[in-house]
Amino acid sequence: MKKQLVIATGNKHKVLEMREILAPLGYDVISAAECGGMPDVEEDAGTFQGNACKKALETAKALGRTVLADDSGLEVFALGGEPGVYSARYAGEGGNDGRNLAKLLGKMQGVTDRSARFVCVIAVATPEGLVGCAEGEVRGTIAFAAVGDGGFGYDPGFIPDGYDKTFGQLPPEVKNSLSHRANALKNAIKKGLL
Ligand code: IMP
Repeated sequence: MKKQLVIATGNKHKVLEMREILAPLGYDVISAAECGGMPDVEEDAGTFQGNACKKALETAKALGRTVLADDSGLEVFALGGEPGVYSARYAGEGGNDGRNLAKLLGKMQGVTDRSARFVCVIAVATPEGLVGCAEGEVRGTIAFAAVGDGGFGYDPGFIPDGYDKTFGQLPPEVKNSLSHRANALKNAIKKGLL
C-alpha cells in the first residue's frame, strides 16, 4: 500500500512535481488544500530552512497530521545570492513569475558570470513538533532570455549543468530527475524523514 504524504503548500506546481517524483517511490502525495486547507503562514524566517520549518510546523498543527513543506528559490552567484529567499516576491507588490524573471534577466544584462543554483529545503513536522529537514540543489546558469513555457517560476531562465535547454524547455521528467526538489526529497528519504 502507498504511504500518504500531505504537502504544506498552496503552489500547485510544487504538488505536481512532488507527486511525479514520489509516486514511483511508493508515496501518494496530496496537498494541504485537499485535506483541510493550507493555513496562512508568513514566510519571514530569512532562510530556506527557517521558512520550511515554519510552514511544516504551523500546517501540521492546523491539520492535526504529519506534513511535509518545501521552501525553495534561486541563488545567482554574481548577484550575491539574489533573489534567494525572496524568489517568490522578487518583483515586489503585485509581482508574479513573469515579472520576477524579467527583473532577474534585466539585472543580469552584461553580467558574464551567469552561474546559479536552485535550492530546496524539505521540512517534515507532526502536530507535536519538527521531525527534521533535508536540503537539495541543482546547479546551472542563467539564460540570456526566457525560453520555454514548461515548469513554473524561474524555469524558463535556468539552464541546468549538462544541458543546453532551460527547465522551461526540458520535459518535466528530466527536471524531476535532477531538480533541487528531487534531490531534497531523496535526501529526506535517506535521512528516514518520510
Ligand atoms: P516558496 O513558495 O516561498 O518556496 O517560493 C518559491 C519560489 O522560488 C517560487 O515562487 C519560484 O519563484 C522559485 N522557485 C522555487 N522552485 C522553483 C522551481 O523548481 N522552478 C522555478 N522556480 C522555482
